[in-house]
Amino acid sequence: MTRTPLIAGNWKMNLDHQQAIATVQKLAWTLDDADFDYEGVEVVIAPPFTDLRSAQTLIDAEGFKLILAAQDLSDQDHGAYTGDISGEFLAKLNCQYVLIGHSERRMIHNESDQLVHAKVLAAKRHGIVPIVCVGESLEQKNAGQTEVPINQVLEAVKDTGISELVIAYEPVWAIGTGEVATAEQAEETIRGIRESLAEQVDEGLAEKTRILYGGSVKANNVAGFLKMPNIDGVLVGGASLDSEEFANIARFREHIGV
Ligand code: PEP
Repeated sequence: MTRTPLIAGNWKMNLDHQQAIATVQKLAWTLDDADFDYEGVEVVIAPPFTDLRSAQTLIDAEGFKLILAAQDLSDQDHGAYTGDISGEFLAKLNCQYVLIGHSERRMIHNESDQLVHAKVLAAKRHGIVPIVCVGESLEQKNAGQTEVPINQVLEAVKDTGISELVIAYEPVWAIGTGEVATAEQAEETIRGIRESLAEQVDEGLAEKTRILYGGSVKANNVAGFLKMPNIDGVLVGGASLDSEEFANIARFREHIGV
């Protein structure tokens, strides 16, 4: 089965709504100038919540083929949850994807596997495809706990009946550190995730789920990952804030010569 590669940019808490407009414009124009093949590669951006409406309006008005994601959502739909954002609102802003369980949410906001699971269900209720982020910390890596990302995936998706899913394998020690996993290391973990998904959740889901690598990806190291049979794209943090660099990452086919 062929899985359409997905290149996603997580802006984290960077760029206000005015900067977002300039960044989205520049990204779309850079890709258009290069006759980018949007059918062959999905390009997704995840700006802060306050940028989403501006980005959506611009994308719609200009007919840009960029796809919007949110960086998080509430496990609840509405009510007395001050500061939270409902999947219902995100769906109205044409967010097709939502990041769930990013390591910065797990660490800074103490998000548990149970909450991640509840958020996957919330995304499903609103027809938004979850990008479930998983990965081991440096301590877990040093202790040889290779099962951590696999268990995080299984906890997130078990008993959800989800039919469309993206997973981002992001070793915590590689996020924002400049220390990148080797393509072989990433492929081995991602293959393990796919196999466990097939064995313990659903074979068809495992076959079609895009599994991305994330952690200090740049234009000059993306090709190695995307040559791997089980790696279907990348989740990019810091480098996605620079439209030219992110466009170069999205044009990975030129780096791998296919
Ligand atoms: C991320 O935030 O998901 C990420 C991978 O960050 P960076 O690319 O900056 O390491």
